[in-house]
Formats: sequence, C-alpha cells, structure tokens
Amino acid sequence: MTDAALFTPEDLEAGERLVLRPWQFVKGVVALDGLPDDGWTEVAFAGRSNVGKSSLINAMVRHGGLARTSNTPGRTQELNFFKPYEDKLYLVDMPGYGFAKAPKDKVETWTALIRAYLAGRPTLRRVFVLVDSRHGIKPPDRDIMKMLDTTAVPYQIVLTKGDKITVPELAAVKAKTETELSSHPAAFPIVLTTSSEKGSGMEDLRATIAALLRA
Ligand code: GDP
Repeated sequence: MTDAALFTPEDLEAGERLVLRPWQFVKGVVALDGLPDDGWTEVAFAGRSNVGKSSLINAMVRHGGLARTSNTPGRTQELNFFKPYEDKLYLVDMPGYGFAKAPKDKVETWTALIRAYLAGRPTLRRVFVLVDSRHGIKPPDRDIMKMLDTTAVPYQIVLTKGDKITVPELAAVKAKTETELSSHPAAFPIVLTTSSEKGSGMEDLRATIAALLRA
C-alpha cells in the first residue's frame, strides 16, 4: 500500500523505472579516498546489524542477490556502492552498527569512516535509517541520528519487518517514532513502514529516491 499523499504519480512511475533493469555493484569503500568523485546523487542505508537492511535493499531494487544478506551480523565493514542501470545515482549500503560482540577497534574504525563520510559528502541527499518495527528506536540508532543531526545530513526512518507485528502495532510504532523525530533537526518527519518479506512499502521507497534524483 502506498501513502499516496506523499508522492506524485510521476515519482511513483519514476521509482518503478529505476528498478526495471538489474542494478550493479560498483565498489566497496574502506577509506574516504576510495569514494566515487563523479558528483552523482547519493542515498545511503544505515541500521543496526540484523535490522533487515540487505533484505530491504534487495526487495527495493527487485534483485535478490544485490546486497549480501548475512547471518554474521557486523561482518561487512565497507561502504558498498550500487547503481541502477542507467541513472546517475548511487545507493550506499553502510556497515551495520550496534553489534554487541563487535571488537572495539572495529567499532572505532567504523565510526571514524562513517563520521568522515557523513561530514563531507554534499552529494549525499538522504540517509535511510532502518529501525526494526518490533523494537522501535534504540540507543545505537540515537547515536547515528545524533551524528546525522550534527553533520546536517537529511535522514528518514524506515521501519523494517512490518509483517512481524499487527497493523495497529505498526501504526503505533510509526506514530511514536514520528513524535521522537520532532526533536531531531535533520530528520524527515514522516516514517516509512516496510516489509521485505511482503514487499510492502517498496514503491514508497522507490518513489522517495526517484523524487530526490529529480530534485
Ligand atoms: P541485515 O543484517 O540488516 O542486512 O539483515 P538481513 O537482511 O540479513 O536480515 C536479517 C534477518 O531478518 C534475516 O533472517 C531475514 O530473513 C530477516 N528479515 C529481513 N527482513 C524481513 C522482513 O521484512 N520480514 C521478516 N519476517 N523477516 C525479515
């Protein structure tokens, strides 16, 4: 189902066009000097390990194997860049955070890379911060939200795994999350709800990205 008020029919159509053909993996970046420098529009996906980020990216681009789903939370420590077939757009899969068992030096390396990336990336138009709809916003999410507020990078919360709770529960988590966002200056006020399992919310996400690409 689409929250039609949020999108124009043109954005929804453009969103569908973005995924007509398979996306490609471009590169994995471990240091700032590896970032692409062609000035293309960028959107990034962040979230705690196991939040369902890989599943969501795969469902969104309709291409099963694009982002690697993993049973080893915190394994991928790179910024992974993907692109659609022909548009000048990068989708950046950020390393999962908040994995309790991650070694301290790994966490520090991650934090330094992310902070530097967020602070110096004018082409980055929005970060989608994924939050498990069963849990709502947790302390590690607040850490990255604070970082995004400080670096003034626009971000939007996306609730994942919406199929795991009831429709009224999902509506309640969405409302509660939107209330919390009102005190975060860089946060987009509207929360998207999704289920990669059911495919719900994917057209909204595509339309959001298409609108950013057009703007
Ligand atoms: P990542 O670590 O954030 O990339 O998370 P994954 O995409 O690997 O997903 C973590 C686990 O959650 C996997 O077992 C997925 O099958 C499951 N999962 C992801 N998205 C959904 C969803 O929308 N619904 C349900 N029921 N399970 C999901």
